Amino acid sequence: MENTNYKILLIEDDKIDQMAFKRFILNEQLPYEIVVSGSITEAQAVLSSEKFDIIISDFSLGDGTALDILDLVKDIPIILTTGARDEEVAVKAWKAGAYDYLAKDDNMEYLKILPKTIENVIKRKKIEDALDRKQKNLLAIFDAVPVGLFSADENLIITRVNEAIKNMFHKEYVQIIGKKIGDALGCTNAISNENGCGSSSECTVCLLRKSVKDVLENNNPIHNIETCPTLCIDNEQRKVWLRVSVVPTMIDNSKHVIVAVDDINERKNAEQERRLAEEKYRTIFQNSAVAITMADEQERIVSWNKFAENLLGMDYEDLYLKPLKSLYPSEEWERIRNFRVREKGMQHSLETKLTTKDGRVIDVNVSLSVLKNENEETIGSIGVITDITERKQAEEKLKETMELKSQFISTVSHELRTPMAAMKEAIEIVLDGIVGDVNEKQKKFLTIAKRNVDRLGALINDVLDFQKLEAGKMNLDLQQNDIRQFISEVHETMVLFAGKNKVELAMELDDDLQQADFDKSKMTQVLTNLLSNSIKFTPADGKVTMKAFYRREHADGNPVEIAFSISDTGMGIPKEALAKIFDRFYRVKREGKQIQGTGLGLAIVNKIIILHGGRIDVESEVEKGTTFTVYLPLMKEASSEKLSIKTDERVEKIIA
Ligand code: ADP
Repeated sequence: MENTNYKILLIEDDKIDQMAFKRFILNEQLPYEIVVSGSITEAQAVLSSEKFDIIISDFSLGDGTALDILDLVKDIPIILTTGARDEEVAVKAWKAGAYDYLAKDDNMEYLKILPKTIENVIKRKKIEDALDRKQKNLLAIFDAVPVGLFSADENLIITRVNEAIKNMFHKEYVQIIGKKIGDALGCTNAISNENGCGSSSECTVCLLRKSVKDVLENNNPIHNIETCPTLCIDNEQRKVWLRVSVVPTMIDNSKHVIVAVDDINERKNAEQERRLAEEKYRTIFQNSAVAITMADEQERIVSWNKFAENLLGMDYEDLYLKPLKSLYPSEEWERIRNFRVREKGMQHSLETKLTTKDGRVIDVNVSLSVLKNENEETIGSIGVITDITERKQAEEKLKETMELKSQFISTVSHELRTPMAAMKEAIEIVLDGIVGDVNEKQKKFLTIAKRNVDRLGALINDVLDFQKLEAGKMNLDLQQNDIRQFISEVHETMVLFAGKNKVELAMELDDDLQQADFDKSKMTQVLTNLLSNSIKFTPADGKVTMKAFYRREHADGNPVEIAFSISDTGMGIPKEALAKIFDRFYRVKREGKQIQGTGLGLAIVNKIIILHGGRIDVESEVEKGTTFTVYLPLMKEASSEKLSIKTDERVEKIIA
């Protein structure tokens, strides 16, 4: 017998029995600590404040029976003591949860077996506690696994489910436990079909139900069947992908199955999406109206579309695993190699040539992208090829036509110039009286002839200038020029013409003006052109003012541009015409007196300024006047020599 110091609550209303109990403990020197309660009420009070290892209770008590104690105490083992006649009742109580019972006898003989009974009860309690814990642990695991689990008995009735099943099917325990599989999991067949769940071969729940049946009959587990039943979840019919395993087991001595249900919807959907995306890209790839080729890391062709086959006139035999190189004329391949993009996602396009199967060389535009894996290693490339042969031919033709036009204009102009010079000279000889006297009438007509020859000459010069500028054949002779001197010279050239037109030509120069780099003769052409326009379009007694000043980003900063402005008090330019005056041959339509001109002047002016890297602004108000302002950038390292060196360096850099 173990000498354990148990704490015992004795519930006994019979004083004699109480005494006998105590005496027995004392005599036997049992190491028990005894607390005695004479009634259920008393026992309740004691139990609420003290802990006991065991309760020994008389069955019939003054204020109730031991059943009340059984209701009250769940965790302490109870031994009942009964009078001999109460034995039947005691058995009932024992079944209700009492651990053991002792039938009292008048000689108190029953007390002799008390210690042994106590030991046994305590032992049993310990074993039960341990079992209970084990079961609780198992149940906790059952609930915690992310896979849906449920058990079902031989009648296909669900006996237990875990959390995952609840969440998967959006149901509460009461809606599942105790129900047939089909009804519980919301099989649509179970709901809509009078034959119930199991009647359809396509439904997973039916399949599941069948599997459960098979497993129960054959005792062989079924693993990982994948299907997509239509389930009724939240009153909605939904297709859900599930993976199911069914394993036979015994629960409480009867045949059961444990069913594991895995929701594989996400994986299945992802698979499907990937398949769709692949399908989509394959369709785009195959049906696109440009040729696409794919090469592996060894630059061998691995994939291409129909359009590529058509463009190259090649088929599978000619393309599969053939080097990319074989598609290009050798010198073009060198260019492509140098050009190849090395960065992921970067795309480059270049114009090159391809050789078709029948040996034709075609002009193409190739957009190259490199493909890299997650380790940034090149795994291949994609080329998108567009046939630009027709465009190239058209461009070539246009170039030829332009060249021809340009040649034609300069030839004609030059051919006109020589006879015109001869005409002018002849007129002047006659006018000067070298070949005989000329009377006033003859002089007047000859002067008209000379003026028109001059106009024709100016027109031819304009046309030639414009042609040169347009063909990019005009070069600038950049020199450092003194701004004041330059403006004064332009003023001197134009002051006579202004005077003839009865227009005052004023000049305003800022004090700080120094040097600037520009082509003096071209800029003279620009300013005289603007001045002659201003003078032409300004009525008598008007005024034209030519200014030169620096433009600065900040009031006290270094000048960034030199500005030349020409303002007049003339007839102005209507707003809607302002945007067009720099177009070639554009002339503002005006009522009344026609002022001579070709419509080329401002177009030439604009081109010369652009060639200098500058710009021109115009502001005008009809009947008030117009201001043209030319801005030329100031080069910091003033000399043009330095400029050209810098340009060379830049060009070299770009080539490198
Ligand atoms: P044009 O040979 O006719 O002068 P331009 O190209 O020099 O050709 O000028 C185009 C048009 O711009 C002119 O026909 C004229 O109507 C208008 N224009 C140019 N400068 C002035 C100005 N200072 N005042 C009014 N109109 C002007």
